Amino acid sequence: MTEFLRDKHIQYVKDLDSKITQKSYEYWLSEHLRMNGLYWGVVVLVTLDVLEETLPKKDVFTYIESCWDSTQGGYGSFPGHDAHILSTLSAIQIQAIYQKEVEELDFPHKNEVVSYIKGLQRENGSFQGDTFGEIDTRFTYTAINALSILGELDTELVSKGVDFIMKCENFDGGFGMVPGAESHAAQVFVCVATLSITSSLHLIKNKEILCEWLSERQVLPSGGLNGRPEKLPDVCYSWWVLSSLSILDKLSWIDDKKLKEYILGCQDELGGGFCDRPGNQTDVFHTCFGIAGLSLLESLEQDSAGGPVLNPVDPTYCMPYSTTKKFRKWPYDKK
Ligand SMILES: [Zn+2]
Repeated sequence: MTEFLRDKHIQYVKDLDSKITQKSYEYWLSEHLRMNGLYWGVVVLVTLDVLEETLPKKDVFTYIESCWDSTQGGYGSFPGHDAHILSTLSAIQIQAIYQKEVEELDFPHKNEVVSYIKGLQRENGSFQGDTFGEIDTRFTYTAINALSILGELDTELVSKGVDFIMKCENFDGGFGMVPGAESHAAQVFVCVATLSITSSLHLIKNKEILCEWLSERQVLPSGGLNGRPEKLPDVCYSWWVLSSLSILDKLSWIDDKKLKEYILGCQDELGGGFCDRPGNQTDVFHTCFGIAGLSLLESLEQDSAGGPVLNPVDPTYCMPYSTTKKFRKWPYDKK
């Protein structure tokens, strides 16, 4: 089996930073994803335990502040861009991950961010991503995730949000983007994780059917996971499917050895990083979810000092447990 190329992945994320400094063509093409890209890179580095020395906090926080949209009270993906709920969550997550030493997390613009996010909830409980009004269960998860990190979830918002999520549950056990939409592994993750944050997992009608649907995502002989029936496997589904099974306590329902082989086979042996399936171009999105997925698999080796190779990632938040334990204290916490 291919080994885990730790040092190459660190170098890969470092090189991304220099590509950004060189302002290449890809750099301009990916402007709308820059804040999310930063979060994916930060998750890789913190999972490999090399965050601060690779991406200094001061530079990262200066960048985040430059994306603050004072008109709307949220973060854009890039300086001058309008705020969006996705880049706002990424900004909050990055700020939380870097606050290693503190007991209570602290966020600049906290009150504005809270009212910005709460203002995106609609009457039917769903959330829109920005002022243009697109609805998606992804945005419900994003809102509830961010508000839980900020310690600002309230009963009415949660109850309406959870009602909307439950309207997106399908007869096959999965969840879709909006009521009546086809089940998809990424939507299952956002819905299950929202139910986990709000201590509402008991509302799932049939956990067995849902977990069967999730375990059927494993494609043989490759061992990789797909997002829907009949689709090709893809490394990012290692995260969406595994995290859902982990939250539901059914990780053993997939063949972890085969999956680990598949994920490791998606590494770029020369330049580091992961791609969606063997031989394709690497990117920071698949690198993040490949490594986060590996962190959920118990069969990883130990490093030479006997410690884990990867810092454990909280499946509900895709952030290290060392961060999430700081805010998993609100009344909705099941623990
Ligand atoms: Zn993918």
